[in-house]
Amino acid sequence: MLRENRIIYTSFLDWRFKIKKAEGNFLWDEKGKKYLDFTSGWNTISLGWNNPEIAGAIKDQLKKNVQSPMWTSTQIQESYAELLTSKLPKSLKAIGRTTGGMESNLEAMKLARVYTERMKVFGFIESWHGQLIENMALSYLPEWMPHLSNKRDDLLHLPYPQTYRTHKSEKELLSELEIKLENILCNKDVAAVITESGILTGWGSAYLAPKGFLTLLRKLTKKYGTLLILDEVGSGFSRLGKLFAMEIENVTPDIVTFAKGITNGVLPMGAMVTTEDIAGAFKEANLQSTFGWLPLSCAAAQKTLEIHLRDKIWEKAEKDGEYTMKVLKNELSDQPFVGDIRGKGMLIAIDFVVDKKTKEKNTSLVEKVVQKCWEKGLHIVCNHENVIQLMPPLIIKRNALDRGIQILVEVVKTNR
Ligand code: PMP
Repeated sequence: MLRENRIIYTSFLDWRFKIKKAEGNFLWDEKGKKYLDFTSGWNTISLGWNNPEIAGAIKDQLKKNVQSPMWTSTQIQESYAELLTSKLPKSLKAIGRTTGGMESNLEAMKLARVYTERMKVFGFIESWHGQLIENMALSYLPEWMPHLSNKRDDLLHLPYPQTYRTHKSEKELLSELEIKLENILCNKDVAAVITESGILTGWGSAYLAPKGFLTLLRKLTKKYGTLLILDEVGSGFSRLGKLFAMEIENVTPDIVTFAKGITNGVLPMGAMVTTEDIAGAFKEANLQSTFGWLPLSCAAAQKTLEIHLRDKIWEKAEKDGEYTMKVLKNELSDQPFVGDIRGKGMLIAIDFVVDKKTKEKNTSLVEKVVQKCWEKGLHIVCNHENVIQLMPPLIIKRNALDRGIQILVEVVKTNR
């Protein structure tokens, strides 16, 4: 259906939030109503909406140069490349310049195929790695996209080993995964395993994997000559309580991808970072992106990373996340339709159920909670099923965090 403003929206919600103004952790709608934001624009604006330091860096770059075609480099690209790689494990020092998450992941898969001379790629079902057919087919079952893709023999998957809906212990899940994945990888024809870290940020489910998940993937991929691609599009830049999520289990992937928070969400940019050896496959892989790493995006990225490092944003994210989880669990765990409260750092989910035993999905309740929160001045979002994913700006002050939690708790309790 064509909307009155001619834009196709991807959210299932029928109502729109019209942003008139934004600042820090607040948004104003077209009627001038003020909202506390618990979305960070789906996990991008972690350092606050319209961050003045980042805006200043973009303005400064605007006076110097705004375009840097593929065969050129500019000083701001070079200094950002150096700063970013200085914070990653030593082996990761070759960067593919991209415009966002989907492109970074495609570039990573392409490079892995050329480097390993294998065509297959493995991903987990119900992950999100971007909107192109190949990204989607990697983590969708074929019946979810019947007109987009035949069953592809080159894309393999397993369910994400999440603890909540499977009712299995972490140990059971890990050992099941080990057996199933080893069965797939042992043929030595899989170029890469691609995954987010121990929590799914992109699908909206915030499913948690068992501790040791990345360590297991690293062990198995190494054993069979498969590359490990870590999609840090949503987990990078302090969201999970570490600057990068790979630090949680101290795992070094062969390729890591970034986007979203890389520029604090203000300009499109992504990065595919790999080893010098793997980057050697670049000629056949042909890594070309006209708009990848425009100087303005790099200026925003440079300032963004400088702020994360200067203010140790990840430490605050870890503390605020622990605090938020504790309060939400205290207040809401005994509500009959709250099935699970889970998260890592400042990516926290409330999973609603009709009944704790049947674990049925309850989309309409979730929509109602979102709508009620908006009415009360708290901007939150939910996925297409029954999960509210909370992602407040990481610079949020404790009193604002408390206010938001209070609104949410009140709404959930009174919508019984
Ligand atoms: N990976 C993850 C984990 C994501 O969350 C997203 C975006 N939701 C993407 C990849 C795709 O990024 P983009 O929208 O920039 O293409």
